[in-house]
Amino acid sequence: MTDEQYKIFLRYRNIHKRDTICKKCNGSGVRLYANTSTWMGGMGGSMMTSDVCDGCWGSGKANEKGANLKILQRMYKENKDLKEKIKELEDHIQIHIDTRT
Ligand SMILES: [Zn+2]
Repeated sequence: MTDEQYKIFLRYRNIHKRDTICKKCNGSGVRLYANTSTWMGGMGGSMMTSDVCDGCWGSGKANEKGANLKILQRMYKENKDLKEKIKELEDHIQIHIDTRT
């Protein structure tokens, strides 16, 4: 890719001179991970896999990152756990009410 093509690419990605280009993905927002675990970490296979960049979370900008998928994933799990806990408490309360009558 020539410098001119790279400038066009950055403009297409809405990355301007005032922005700091993400060093991990050079502004593409995508990285090639050495295994199938990608940004999620953990167990991975032996295949090169492209996925959202864990440096800028897809924005291509170091100064304006996208939503951190690791935090969103953790919040999703916490929300799911809380919903299960609420359901357990509701069931417990219902049993208590049922046994009183
Ligand atoms: Zn990046």
